[in-house]
Amino acid sequence: MAHHTALSLTSSPDVTATTPRICQSAVSLQQYLVEAATRLRQAGIDSPRLCAQLLLCHLLKIDRLRCTLETEMELTSAQVKAVNLLVNRKIKGEPLAYLIGHKEFFSRNFSVTPDTLIPRPDTELLVATALELLPASPLTFADVGAGSGCIGITIALERTSWHGVLFDLNPRTIAVAQANAHRLKATSRLTCVQADMRLAPLQACAYDLVVSNPPYIAECERSQIMDEVLHFEPHMALFSSENGIACLKIVVALAAPALKTGGLLLLEHGANQGAKVRRLLDESFVFGGICTRKDLAGLERCTLAWKH
Ligand code: GLN
Repeated sequence: MAHHTALSLTSSPDVTATTPRICQSAVSLQQYLVEAATRLRQAGIDSPRLCAQLLLCHLLKIDRLRCTLETEMELTSAQVKAVNLLVNRKIKGEPLAYLIGHKEFFSRNFSVTPDTLIPRPDTELLVATALELLPASPLTFADVGAGSGCIGITIALERTSWHGVLFDLNPRTIAVAQANAHRLKATSRLTCVQADMRLAPLQACAYDLVVSNPPYIAECERSQIMDEVLHFEPHMALFSSENGIACLKIVVALAAPALKTGGLLLLEHGANQGAKVRRLLDESFVFGGICTRKDLAGLERCTLAWKH
């Protein structure tokens, strides 16, 4: 008789909350949460109870409210085994967003995979700045290095007369952005394109806004990066040569001819790269009104520039 493997349990259809079954050694949802949170806490995981709850919600396909209210719900042994696999992966350092397959950004859920960077709250500053500085009237934008599509899709959803093109080098990554655009109902105003921007320049004078959160971590900063990031997130989305500045240079060079006169370039960068990015923009002789904004932690995070 076939032996149930860990893998077959995770993909088993009977692990959702819609088909509860009492089993011999029934454990309630509440009991499970206490036990899992204890293991996560002992492993040094932040917010262990929330983490356990989110993993359980994901596995049972229920929302947090139901998970909070139905504490007496009995879990089947298959459900316990399946969620334990997720808890174990979390304990080994895997980011929660990859385990549950999504991450919230600007109050919407974005699907993520190991081919996409996990959207960061700091990046919301780019979106908020674009929405604040540009009129709501129709315009065209490009998101260069779109990853999950969190920036471009959010902008398109917040400004319903804007049209955008999302670019990413990795075909699997742009497929995730495309799926997010589809699920969030933004495809009528967005195009997702797989392209190596070093080989395929943007169309000249076509955009009112170019926005990018490119890879900007220097190789020499590797040792300062949290294991959870270093071991699981795509290095292609994190690291850039020339002390972290190479991709920022490429985006500036791409945006200069691609923006319309009066168009806006918005770049995310590292906390210690503000001065370098301002100098880069200034030396291009194409941009004015160059200024850097700080993130919620008070760190220089995003620089904007207007094309003359
Ligand atoms: N634009 C995406 C994000 O902000 C991906 C960025 C990247 O891969 N460097 O999350």
